Amino acid sequence: ERMIEVNLLTKRYGGTTAVRELTFAVRPGRVTGFLGPNGAGKSTTLRMVLGLDAPTSGTATVSGSPFRDRARGLRHVGALLDAGQVHGGRTAAAHLGALARSNRIPRARVDEVLEEVGLAGAARRRTGGFSLGMRQRLGIAAALLGDPPVLVFDEPLNGLDPEGVQWVRGLFRGLAAEGRTVFVSSHLMSEMEHTADHLVVIGRGELIAAESLAEFAARG
Ligand code: ADP
Ligand code: ADP
Repeated sequence: ERMIEVNLLTKRYGGTTAVRELTFAVRPGRVTGFLGPNGAGKSTTLRMVLGLDAPTSGTATVSGSPFRDRARGLRHVGALLDAGQVHGGRTAAAHLGALARSNRIPRARVDEVLEEVGLAGAARRRTGGFSLGMRQRLGIAAALLGDPPVLVFDEPLNGLDPEGVQWVRGLFRGLAAEGRTVFVSSHLMSEMEHTADHLVVIGRGELIAAESLAEFAARG
Protein backbone atom coordinates (compact mmCIF):
# COMPACT_ATOMS: atom_id res chain seq x y z
CA GLU A 1 0.00 0.00 0.00
CA ARG A 2 1.24 3.44 -0.95
CA MET A 3 -1.01 6.11 0.49
CA ILE A 4 0.95 9.07 -0.81
CA GLU A 5 2.65 8.62 -4.15
CA VAL A 6 4.80 11.20 -5.88
CA ASN A 7 5.98 10.37 -9.39
CA LEU A 8 8.48 12.49 -11.35
CA LEU A 9 7.00 15.52 -9.64
CA THR A 10 8.42 18.83 -10.87
CA LYS A 11 7.57 22.43 -9.96
CA ARG A 12 9.12 25.48 -11.56
CA TYR A 13 8.51 29.07 -10.50
CA GLY A 14 9.72 31.20 -13.40
CA GLY A 15 13.37 30.28 -13.78
CA THR A 16 13.60 28.51 -10.40
CA THR A 17 13.07 24.77 -10.19
CA ALA A 18 11.74 24.22 -6.66
CA VAL A 19 11.14 20.47 -7.11
CA ARG A 20 12.78 18.31 -9.77
CA GLU A 21 11.53 14.86 -10.86
CA LEU A 22 10.81 13.75 -7.33
CA THR A 23 9.62 10.14 -6.96
CA PHE A 24 8.74 8.49 -3.63
CA ALA A 25 5.93 6.72 -1.78
CA VAL A 26 4.72 7.07 1.80
CA ARG A 27 3.23 3.98 3.39
CA PRO A 28 0.70 3.57 6.19
CA GLY A 29 1.49 2.33 9.69
CA ARG A 30 4.61 4.34 10.26
CA VAL A 31 5.85 7.87 10.70
CA THR A 32 7.73 9.03 7.62
CA GLY A 33 9.91 12.08 7.96
CA PHE A 34 10.40 14.50 5.07
CA LEU A 35 13.85 15.94 5.69
CA GLY A 36 15.74 18.66 3.88
CA PRO A 37 17.27 22.07 4.56
CA ASN A 38 15.22 25.25 4.26
CA GLY A 39 14.45 25.93 0.62
CA ALA A 40 14.83 22.25 -0.37
CA GLY A 41 11.27 22.09 -1.71
CA LYS A 42 9.40 20.38 1.14
CA SER A 43 6.49 22.83 1.40
CA THR A 44 6.18 23.02 -2.38
CA THR A 45 5.94 19.22 -2.52
CA LEU A 46 3.40 19.06 0.32
CA ARG A 47 1.27 21.76 -1.33
CA MET A 48 1.14 19.66 -4.50
CA VAL A 49 0.31 16.50 -2.52
CA LEU A 50 -2.56 18.43 -0.91
CA GLY A 51 -3.79 19.78 -4.23
CA LEU A 52 -3.09 23.38 -3.25
CA ASP A 53 -0.63 23.89 -6.08
CA ALA A 54 -0.48 22.33 -9.54
CA PRO A 55 2.66 20.44 -10.63
CA THR A 56 4.58 21.74 -13.64
CA SER A 57 4.88 18.06 -14.55
CA GLY A 58 4.58 14.67 -12.87
CA THR A 59 1.92 13.55 -10.40
CA ALA A 60 1.14 13.49 -6.69
CA THR A 61 -1.65 11.21 -5.49
CA VAL A 62 -3.28 10.44 -2.16
CA SER A 63 -5.03 7.05 -1.82
CA GLY A 64 -4.68 6.59 -5.57
CA SER A 65 -5.98 9.85 -6.99
CA PRO A 66 -4.95 13.49 -7.05
CA PHE A 67 -6.30 15.28 -3.99
CA ARG A 68 -8.31 18.32 -5.01
CA ASP A 69 -10.58 19.71 -2.36
CA ARG A 70 -8.55 20.30 0.75
CA ALA A 71 -11.11 22.67 2.19
CA ARG A 72 -13.75 19.90 2.18
CA GLY A 73 -11.47 16.90 2.35
CA LEU A 74 -10.75 16.74 6.06
CA ARG A 75 -12.10 13.21 6.31
CA HIS A 76 -9.55 12.04 3.73
CA VAL A 77 -6.43 14.02 4.56
CA GLY A 78 -5.61 16.16 7.56
CA ALA A 79 -2.84 18.69 7.19
CA LEU A 80 -0.92 21.18 9.24
CA LEU A 81 0.60 23.89 7.02
CA ASP A 82 1.64 27.42 7.96
CA ALA A 83 0.58 27.20 11.60
CA GLY A 84 1.09 30.94 11.84
CA GLN A 85 -1.93 31.56 9.67
CA VAL A 86 -5.19 31.33 11.58
CA HIS A 87 -7.96 33.90 11.60
CA GLY A 88 -7.09 35.77 14.77
CA GLY A 89 -10.60 37.06 15.42
CA ARG A 90 -12.22 33.69 16.01
CA THR A 91 -12.06 31.48 19.05
CA ALA A 92 -10.37 28.10 18.78
CA ALA A 93 -13.75 26.38 19.07
CA ALA A 94 -15.30 28.59 16.36
CA HIS A 95 -12.35 28.01 14.04
CA LEU A 96 -12.68 24.23 14.35
CA GLY A 97 -16.48 24.46 14.37
CA ALA A 98 -16.44 26.13 10.92
CA LEU A 99 -14.14 23.44 9.56
CA ALA A 100 -16.37 20.71 11.05
CA ARG A 101 -19.45 22.25 9.45
CA SER A 102 -17.98 22.56 5.96
CA ASN A 103 -16.71 18.97 6.18
CA ARG A 104 -19.92 17.51 7.66
CA ILE A 105 -18.07 16.36 10.74
CA PRO A 106 -20.11 16.08 13.98
CA ARG A 107 -19.69 19.15 16.20
CA ALA A 108 -18.77 16.88 19.12
CA ARG A 109 -15.43 16.19 17.43
CA VAL A 110 -14.40 19.80 18.09
CA ASP A 111 -14.35 19.31 21.85
CA GLU A 112 -12.71 15.92 21.46
CA VAL A 113 -9.80 17.21 19.38
CA LEU A 114 -9.34 20.32 21.55
CA GLU A 115 -9.01 17.97 24.50
CA GLU A 116 -6.66 15.70 22.58
CA VAL A 117 -4.24 18.52 21.73
CA GLY A 118 -4.36 20.09 25.19
CA LEU A 119 -6.35 23.19 24.22
CA ALA A 120 -9.62 22.41 26.03
CA GLY A 121 -8.95 25.27 28.42
CA ALA A 122 -8.37 27.71 25.57
CA ALA A 123 -11.44 26.74 23.51
CA ARG A 124 -13.20 30.07 24.04
CA ARG A 125 -10.12 32.23 23.52
CA ARG A 126 -9.45 34.11 20.30
CA THR A 127 -6.68 32.52 18.31
CA GLY A 128 -5.05 35.90 17.66
CA GLY A 129 -3.59 35.74 21.17
CA PHE A 130 -2.21 32.24 20.77
CA SER A 131 1.52 31.51 20.96
CA LEU A 132 3.13 29.68 18.05
CA GLY A 133 3.02 26.47 20.09
CA MET A 134 -0.72 26.90 20.68
CA ARG A 135 -1.26 27.61 16.99
CA GLN A 136 0.64 24.42 16.17
CA ARG A 137 -1.65 22.51 18.53
CA LEU A 138 -4.70 24.14 16.92
CA GLY A 139 -3.43 23.19 13.45
CA ILE A 140 -2.88 19.63 14.64
CA ALA A 141 -6.44 19.63 16.06
CA ALA A 142 -7.73 20.67 12.61
CA ALA A 143 -5.77 17.87 10.99
CA LEU A 144 -7.26 15.32 13.43
CA LEU A 145 -10.83 16.64 13.20
CA GLY A 146 -12.03 14.40 10.38
CA ASP A 147 -10.27 11.28 11.67
CA PRO A 148 -8.47 10.92 8.31
CA PRO A 149 -6.33 7.93 7.24
CA VAL A 150 -3.61 10.24 5.89
CA LEU A 151 -1.98 13.08 7.86
CA VAL A 152 0.57 15.60 6.65
CA PHE A 153 2.42 17.93 9.01
CA ASP A 154 4.74 20.69 7.79
CA GLU A 155 7.35 21.53 10.48
CA PRO A 156 4.99 20.65 13.36
CA LEU A 157 7.67 20.88 16.05
CA ASN A 158 8.34 24.59 15.42
CA GLY A 159 7.42 26.66 18.43
CA LEU A 160 6.66 23.73 20.73
CA ASP A 161 8.33 23.55 24.12
CA PRO A 162 10.14 20.30 25.07
CA GLU A 163 7.01 18.92 26.67
CA GLY A 164 5.04 19.74 23.51
CA VAL A 165 7.67 18.02 21.38
CA GLN A 166 7.38 14.85 23.50
CA TRP A 167 3.61 15.01 23.25
CA VAL A 168 3.57 15.43 19.48
CA ARG A 169 6.00 12.53 19.00
CA GLY A 170 3.72 10.28 21.05
CA LEU A 171 0.72 11.49 19.08
CA PHE A 172 2.40 10.65 15.74
CA ARG A 173 3.44 7.21 16.97
CA GLY A 174 -0.11 6.53 18.12
CA LEU A 175 -1.57 7.58 14.75
CA ALA A 176 0.90 5.31 12.93
CA ALA A 177 0.11 2.43 15.30
CA GLU A 178 -3.55 2.82 14.29
CA GLY A 179 -2.44 2.14 10.70
CA ARG A 180 -2.55 5.71 9.46
CA THR A 181 -0.10 7.34 7.11
CA VAL A 182 1.85 10.08 8.89
CA PHE A 183 4.16 12.33 6.84
CA VAL A 184 6.10 14.95 8.81
CA SER A 185 8.50 17.55 7.39
CA SER A 186 11.49 19.02 9.18
CA HIS A 187 14.74 20.77 8.32
CA LEU A 188 16.47 19.18 11.34
CA MET A 189 17.73 15.60 11.48
CA SER A 190 17.81 15.95 15.27
CA GLU A 191 14.02 16.44 15.25
CA MET A 192 13.48 13.37 13.09
CA GLU A 193 15.67 11.07 15.19
CA HIS A 194 13.03 10.48 17.82
CA THR A 195 10.04 11.09 15.59
CA ALA A 196 10.25 9.14 12.32
CA ASP A 197 10.75 5.46 11.45
CA HIS A 198 11.45 6.17 7.82
CA LEU A 199 12.85 9.13 5.91
CA VAL A 200 12.40 10.81 2.56
CA VAL A 201 15.38 13.15 2.23
CA ILE A 202 15.55 15.94 -0.35
CA GLY A 203 18.04 18.65 -1.23
CA ARG A 204 17.65 21.40 -3.85
CA GLY A 205 14.37 19.87 -4.95
CA GLU A 206 15.84 16.45 -5.68
CA LEU A 207 15.56 13.11 -3.90
CA ILE A 208 18.63 12.16 -1.87
CA ALA A 209 17.34 9.10 -0.01
CA ALA A 210 14.18 7.18 0.86
CA GLU A 211 15.00 4.59 3.49
CA SER A 212 14.69 3.67 7.13
CA LEU A 213 16.11 6.01 9.73
CA ALA A 214 18.67 3.36 10.71
CA GLU A 215 19.85 2.96 7.11
CA PHE A 216 20.16 6.70 6.66
CA ALA A 217 22.01 7.14 9.95
CA ALA A 218 24.41 4.31 9.05
CA ARG A 219 25.49 6.18 5.93
CA GLY A 220 26.76 9.02 8.12
P1 ADP B 1 11.19 24.17 2.07
O1 ADP B 1 9.76 23.94 2.44
O2 ADP B 1 11.98 22.91 1.97
O3 ADP B 1 11.86 25.17 2.95
P2 ADP B 1 10.08 25.48 -0.25
O4 ADP B 1 9.25 24.46 -0.90
O5 ADP B 1 9.39 26.49 0.58
O6 ADP B 1 11.22 24.77 0.58
O7 ADP B 1 10.92 26.26 -1.34
C1 ADP B 1 11.67 25.59 -2.37
C2 ADP B 1 12.17 26.63 -3.36
O8 ADP B 1 11.08 27.15 -4.12
C3 ADP B 1 12.87 27.82 -2.73
O9 ADP B 1 13.93 28.20 -3.58
C4 ADP B 1 11.77 28.86 -2.72
O10 ADP B 1 12.33 30.14 -2.73
C5 ADP B 1 11.01 28.55 -4.00
N1 ADP B 1 9.60 28.93 -3.94
C6 ADP B 1 8.67 28.38 -3.10
N2 ADP B 1 7.45 28.93 -3.31
C7 ADP B 1 7.62 29.86 -4.29
C8 ADP B 1 6.75 30.78 -4.97
N3 ADP B 1 5.44 30.85 -4.66
N4 ADP B 1 7.29 31.58 -5.91
C9 ADP B 1 8.59 31.50 -6.23
N5 ADP B 1 9.47 30.67 -5.65
C10 ADP B 1 9.00 29.85 -4.70
P1 ADP C 1 -9.99 30.32 4.57
O1 ADP C 1 -9.60 30.60 3.15
O2 ADP C 1 -11.26 30.96 4.99
O3 ADP C 1 -8.87 30.49 5.53
P2 ADP C 1 -9.64 27.45 4.42
O4 ADP C 1 -10.67 26.42 4.19
O5 ADP C 1 -8.54 27.55 3.43
O6 ADP C 1 -10.43 28.81 4.59
O7 ADP C 1 -8.98 27.21 5.82
C1 ADP C 1 -9.51 27.63 7.01
C2 ADP C 1 -8.56 27.15 8.07
O8 ADP C 1 -8.62 25.75 8.14
C3 ADP C 1 -7.11 27.50 7.81
O9 ADP C 1 -6.48 27.82 9.03
C4 ADP C 1 -6.54 26.24 7.24
O10 ADP C 1 -5.16 26.10 7.54
C5 ADP C 1 -7.37 25.19 7.91
N1 ADP C 1 -7.53 24.04 7.04
C6 ADP C 1 -8.14 23.99 5.84
N2 ADP C 1 -8.08 22.76 5.32
C7 ADP C 1 -7.44 22.00 6.22
C8 ADP C 1 -7.04 20.62 6.26
N3 ADP C 1 -7.27 19.75 5.28
N4 ADP C 1 -6.38 20.19 7.36
C9 ADP C 1 -6.13 21.04 8.37
N5 ADP C 1 -6.47 22.34 8.38
C10 ADP C 1 -7.11 22.82 7.33
